[in-house]
Amino acid sequence: MIAYIEPYFLDNDADADADAAAGKSTDAVSESLNIKGTILFGRDAADIAGRDFGGMNCVKPLAVVKPVGPEDIAGAVKAALSSDKLTVVARGNGHSINGQAMAEGGLVVDMSSTAENHFEVGYLSGGSGTPFVDISGGALWENVLKRCVSEYSLVPRSWTDYLGLTVGGTLSNAGVSGQAFRYGPQTSNVTELDVVTGNGDVVTCSEMENSELFFSVLGGLGQFGIITRARVLLQPAPDMVRWIRVVYSSFDEFTQDAEWLVSHKDESSFDYVEGFVFVNGDDPVNGWPTVPLHPDHDFDPTRLPQSSGSVLYCLELGLHYKDSDSNSTVNKRVESLIGRLRFNEGLRFEVDLPYVDFLLRVKQSEKIAKENGTWETPHPWLNLFVSKRDIGEFNRTVFKELVKNGVNGPMLVYPLLRSRWDDRTSVVLPEGEIFYIVALLRFVPPYAKGSSVDKMVAQNQEIIHWCVKNEIDFKLYLPHYKSREEWVRHFGNRWSRFVDRKDMFDPKAILSPGQKIFNRCP
Ligand code: FAD
Repeated sequence: MIAYIEPYFLDNDADADADAAAGKSTDAVSESLNIKGTILFGRDAADIAGRDFGGMNCVKPLAVVKPVGPEDIAGAVKAALSSDKLTVVARGNGHSINGQAMAEGGLVVDMSSTAENHFEVGYLSGGSGTPFVDISGGALWENVLKRCVSEYSLVPRSWTDYLGLTVGGTLSNAGVSGQAFRYGPQTSNVTELDVVTGNGDVVTCSEMENSELFFSVLGGLGQFGIITRARVLLQPAPDMVRWIRVVYSSFDEFTQDAEWLVSHKDESSFDYVEGFVFVNGDDPVNGWPTVPLHPDHDFDPTRLPQSSGSVLYCLELGLHYKDSDSNSTVNKRVESLIGRLRFNEGLRFEVDLPYVDFLLRVKQSEKIAKENGTWETPHPWLNLFVSKRDIGEFNRTVFKELVKNGVNGPMLVYPLLRSRWDDRTSVVLPEGEIFYIVALLRFVPPYAKGSSVDKMVAQNQEIIHWCVKNEIDFKLYLPHYKSREEWVRHFGNRWSRFVDRKDMFDPKAILSPGQKIFNRCP
């Protein structure tokens, strides 16, 4: 049957005629694919899966499948297996930047229809008694948070900054935020998965059972299987967070303090450590006004030393506590840690807020961006991991020169510990125990011309070329490359393992064509 629909729809544009024709064929196609869920074609499909958050790519999928469960997803994969060129991609919330969750002429599996399929809390056997939750690959992390807290007073240990992302989408990359220094990325906090492989098999996997598939899929860029269920470790939910920002003019002092905090073994240390770079000026989007945490806070530039450069650095910290903790206990814990730090005196900002509000803090930025139109405009973002060895040179060239006027959005930089990551997953990292995540989260004003997006993309390329030319030890996070040569360089000595895994779990290269790593085999 797929041999019938494939030429039919590939030969038709998503115009009104095709929509009408597609409408007539939908029932027949659903039946032949043996899918209980729904299938959308033409414009309906393009509306859902034709673009992503990056907004720089536009494709026409053959169809969007809204599965009821793993059997439907396996049905889509098997249909693709029986055709010559059809591909399949899981779409989480489409928050990729460079078309990674898209498939030109392929089947897009919209995971949102499965979001509610799982939500069961349990406890690991074997003595530890650690709580976990089984959740759907298509669930949004913000919904996982709300249900875990309200129904069980428990929460996952490792997060992303923004929670409008899906479980399967972040586990296919890594999932990083200010808790990762302690618990590792989200991929280090999962003990079991249900996966539909590129062979059309529905498989449960873990460290002990089908372990090669388990580690392949984690950080696997959607190349080996589609995650339908994840078992995620939990911890008791704190009630409140003391959220603190302190400002540095010296990059060396900023990095030394940040590294001390993330390497500090004491559990009473901060629970969240991040950092960012900002412009030394009064620009409302890129400069001093982006630092205070409350409208009553004032950023007083007279507190900055004369020697301050074009950019400044902010360490962002969070301390969890319970409602039952007294103010003086919390103050004492904060002061014992913060007293060791060498930030610029007078440039310290802090607020107390409920834990859930803290985790949902980026929602407010999303609301503002939707109001001012910058949520819908293109997002030429660049995310990298840079080794501790090279972060000083990166600061001198990239932060202090190339992006010294800002990127119209946050420029994150904070250290992570390699020992909290599992080398058996498909994620690749720079060498050394400490490395930095760098994120240039560019927002484009609605009035900007297309050429300004091109300039931002070109600047991202310039940064990558500079890194390669100067032998900076770096890896792209949420990687995006177009040539085989670049992918081989990205994976380095892990390339052959990645290829072997592809041969094992998706030999016809059906899955996630938008990553542009492998070509579909007929
Ligand atoms: P999609 O973009 O839909 O998919 C991403 C990739 O995963 C695709 O290849 C897709 O095929 C695959 N995929 C999706 N679902 C599945 C599944 N169930 N099984 C297998 N493969 C699947 N990342 C961080 O680590 N930390 C952050 O703090 C962070 N903040 C962000 C803030 C914003 C505003 C945005 C837009 C992104 C942020 N990200 C962050 C990046 C985010 O992790 C990626 O965009 C990621 O792709 C998740 O988005 P998604 O769920 O929409 O997945």
